[in-house]
Amino acid sequence: MPQIIDGKATAAAIKAEIAAEVRRMVASGGRRPHLAAVLVGHDGGSETYVKNKVLACEACGFKSTLVRFEDSVSEDELLRCVYSLNTDPDVDGFIVQLPLPRHIDAQRVTEAIDPRKDVDGFHPENVGRMAIGLPCFISATPMGILTLLRRYGIETGGRKCVILGRSNIVGKPMAQLMMQKEHGDATVTVCHSHSATLREECRQADIIIAAIGRPEFVTADMVKPGAVVIDVGTTRVPDSTRKSGYRLCGDVKFDEVAPLCSFITPVPGGVGPMTICSLMENTLLAAKRRSGI
Ligand code: NAP
Repeated sequence: MPQIIDGKATAAAIKAEIAAEVRRMVASGGRRPHLAAVLVGHDGGSETYVKNKVLACEACGFKSTLVRFEDSVSEDELLRCVYSLNTDPDVDGFIVQLPLPRHIDAQRVTEAIDPRKDVDGFHPENVGRMAIGLPCFISATPMGILTLLRRYGIETGGRKCVILGRSNIVGKPMAQLMMQKEHGDATVTVCHSHSATLREECRQADIIIAAIGRPEFVTADMVKPGAVVIDVGTTRVPDSTRKSGYRLCGDVKFDEVAPLCSFITPVPGGVGPMTICSLMENTLLAAKRRSGI
């Protein structure tokens, strides 16, 4: 039987550990870490993500601030907000929730963030430092996956890891980290929409990390018995039996793949909760660095 990797329980345990550390920091006269989130518009998904980030801050004992703008906000106005958060001595880290409206250059906004406060780890300086193994903020989803692998005692060194997807926020950083000696130390193959041998690569993989956003793409015939399968995909598919009218679907056909695996993450409750948890870890790190702890 496969072991189901419980991201929800792992994230709750880590948040409790962070909260205990914050209590110690405050007891010894330190400040509470402070995370700010900038939300533009009223996209349902973004609203939920930001709400969950604020709730996670409460669970960790952090201070949180939500800065809201309408869809019509200009790029200049948003950039002024970023500059003001960069220089606000009370803010340890902040995020600008993506996606942004089309008239705003998201890359320009990301690059305006002070890398020392870039707890999402999206600034090119953090991405570059991560790529060459220097201290940095590692982006939250890949960091959450590494934490799950470590906490479940999953051996990655020397194993063949296939990553599906090459996005800047998941696939690429995940491949870098799985390759690095001090993290995954694995042999890594990255597949994307133009990979001719994707299925064969998957069949040889000890570890598959699927991050493509194609519901139930990974089927049983693509998975080697005993493999570890990490499902990053979260696609909303219509479901009239749910109050919300949709359910979250992963990139893996869970019911047929799970029996083959040694470990597998479910959707929801696998990688998702870890992403926010890693953001909290980065915020704690930012606060400690600023206080010289
Ligand atoms: P993205 O930017 O859309 O990138 C998708 C990647 O998958 C691209 O590299 C694309 O290839 C590749 N791809 C798409 N269709 C494919 C196919 N049929 N075969 C092989 N490769 C294919 O997506 P993302 O931001 O990385 O997110 C991926 C998924 O993870 C989404 O479902 C997203 O919602 C989810 N996600 C979850 C979390 C979480 O916390 N759980 C966090 C982030 C993302 P090309 O480069 O060739 O186009």
